[in-house]
Amino acid sequence: MTSQLEALRRELDRINEEILKWLNRRAEVVQEIGRLKLKQGINRFDPVREREMLDHLVRINTGPFDDQTIRALFKQIFAASLKLQQKQHEDALLVSRARKPEDTVVAVGSVRIGGGTPVIIAGPCSVESEAQTDAVARVIAEHGLGLIRGGAFKPRTSPYDFQGLGVEGLKILREVADRYGLKVVSEIMTPGDLDVAVRYVDIIQIGARNMQNFALLKEVGALSTPVLLKRGMAATIEEFKFAAEYILSHGNPNVILTERGIRTYEKATRNTLDISAVPILKQETHLPVLVDVSHAAGRRDILLPLAKAALAAGADGVMIEVHPDPSVALSDAQQQIDLDTFRRFMAELKTAAPAFV
Ligand code: PEP
Ligand code: MN
Repeated sequence: MTSQLEALRRELDRINEEILKWLNRRAEVVQEIGRLKLKQGINRFDPVREREMLDHLVRINTGPFDDQTIRALFKQIFAASLKLQQKQHEDALLVSRARKPEDTVVAVGSVRIGGGTPVIIAGPCSVESEAQTDAVARVIAEHGLGLIRGGAFKPRTSPYDFQGLGVEGLKILREVADRYGLKVVSEIMTPGDLDVAVRYVDIIQIGARNMQNFALLKEVGALSTPVLLKRGMAATIEEFKFAAEYILSHGNPNVILTERGIRTYEKATRNTLDISAVPILKQETHLPVLVDVSHAAGRRDILLPLAKAALAAGADGVMIEVHPDPSVALSDAQQQIDLDTFRRFMAELKTAAPAFV
């Protein structure tokens, strides 16, 4: 009796080993199929094929397991296989850290974004005048920083709001930046403006509202000018990564990801800063990750703690809106900080990082 039980148990062990071997063999075949599909650009999940395999297994099933149990068991195996293919697909993306383990550093003049020293991109929401831009640039240079932001093409919610100075704004920004040896970040909203933009702009910003403007992403992908890509206000991290993938896959590797808050039900801030996006993007991609604290908060009184949180979470830098007189700013008046507040902000942020560029 005992020896018979022992024998059966040994047989079970052998069957388990066989099942294990065949499960892994199956996984290998699935991965091979995944590689082929990837090459051909085919969607990895094929529900019709899954249904056909299940129907076939049920047809030839002789028991003792009933059909429902067989379906449930094989569905588990299929789901595990799909997960393998999904991981394979993610790892193959150009933005993926699995594909390129070392950090991408975007060099703009002497400023290295993602190079270990956090960057500060400061400047007005909109370029309004030469004097306004010069006043901000002077304070940026005073701190030894190398980048200035300023919108010339503004994506405003209302068509009656200030739309930006257009090319005239880009010219002002360039002229002032050159005066102080700064590099320029400015948003471009349409492919048609890229030709003129690359003459004045060092980093092209793609705004939150255009994160999924695929025509624009393809066009900036064809350039070599660095691109600062903002996360869409209702975009998942996966969608954000795919937007960056558009740019990389069209040939431009110089992409800087920027978390700028997402829409939630919370009204205390303009958007909700998704701080977890920072370590997730750093883990899953090799691209530099910045946090725009101004558009996340929509208010000026919590920018310092948000910036500290961003750096603590591993961000490669911070974007912040600065205006000589925020109360009369033509856009985002509530969130911009004045020059003295920016000086205090920088002094206090030094407790979070020893140096900035
Ligand atoms: C901006 O940076 O000026 C801007 C409009 O930001 P966002 O696209 O993140 O709203
Ligand atoms: Mn703004």
